[in-house]
Amino acid sequence: MNDLNRRVFLLSPVAAGSALLLGADAARAQVVMVSEKDATAAALGYTTDSARVNPKRFPNHSSAQKCGNCELYAGRPGDGTGECRIFTGKRVSAIGWCSAYVLKG
Ligand code: SF4
Repeated sequence: MNDLNRRVFLLSPVAAGSALLLGADAARAQVVMVSEKDATAAALGYTTDSARVNPKRFPNHSSAQKCGNCELYAGRPGDGTGECRIFTGKRVSAIGWCSAYVLKG
């Protein structure tokens, strides 16, 4: 590729699209998961697996309640993790749970 062709390529929609994809990959690589030990997570009893919820602490919890079917979950169906509106900028496990759970309507 000579200089002229390289300049034409760099100005092309293909190059712009590639740059956007690389930027999206970089953003995806910086995913931060909510830790069960985070102060807010601990206060809400967040667990990364709904099957591990303590029934004595949360007697109204049911095993059918999971982040993946919570109104506050913003992940895509089928993804293992997704953002939660409670934990801005962090992701939760799709099979996780916390006491702020609201069944998706
Ligand atoms: Fe999961 Fe919903 Fe709690 Fe967020 S609010 S951690 S999506 S159960």
